[in-house]
Amino acid sequence: MARYTGPVCRLCRRERMKLFLKGDRCFKEKCAIERRAYPPGQHGQRRSRRPSGYGPQLREKQKVKRIYGVFEKQFRNYFATAAGKKGVTGDNLLISLERRLDNVVYSLGFASSRSQARQLVRHGHIEVEGRKTTIPSYQVKVGQQVGVKEGSRKNEIIRASVETARGRGIPSWLELDPENFVGKAIALPTRDDIKLPVEEQLIVELYSR
Ligand code: SF4
Repeated sequence: MARYTGPVCRLCRRERMKLFLKGDRCFKEKCAIERRAYPPGQHGQRRSRRPSGYGPQLREKQKVKRIYGVFEKQFRNYFATAAGKKGVTGDNLLISLERRLDNVVYSLGFASSRSQARQLVRHGHIEVEGRKTTIPSYQVKVGQQVGVKEGSRKNEIIRASVETARGRGIPSWLELDPENFVGKAIALPTRDDIKLPVEEQLIVELYSR
């Protein structure tokens, strides 16, 4: 599957906000947003006009895609599914993204970023209900346990992530047993559980054009 291999800090600078794509570095002074909080490129420091209409809608979509590491086609599928469900489309969209296995692995603190979580899943370090699962987009269901495979619990990257994530806290729809490297979805996430600074209504407007 194709993946973005360019400089990820550039993506944050383009959105003018921290998207937390690089793990620990995002919490340090080295973060590019701390040092250069303007868009990349030759005209990045120009005073920009206040965008309206299509511009903010596009930026909001790009922001969410980049936070969760999802490509356009897959994102459109998420949107189509969200629109076909009961309830508020924007909420449904974010909740589906939040339930992705790679996001759950990141939220439980087994990885320091969503991209690292995706790699752990693909490389077979993660189990759902005790069975190895290598699909990052797998939708975690209520009551399911997500854990690190026994043979991978000594992995330095995972141990360091669990240690640094202790102070970060986990969302209220998940619970964690850090000693046994296992977590559980105790409820479905709600919009209030998703603390991202996202105006999902703009994405709905974009796809409704
Ligand atoms: Fe974004 Fe993290 Fe890079 Fe900062 S360090 S710009 S938050 S990816």
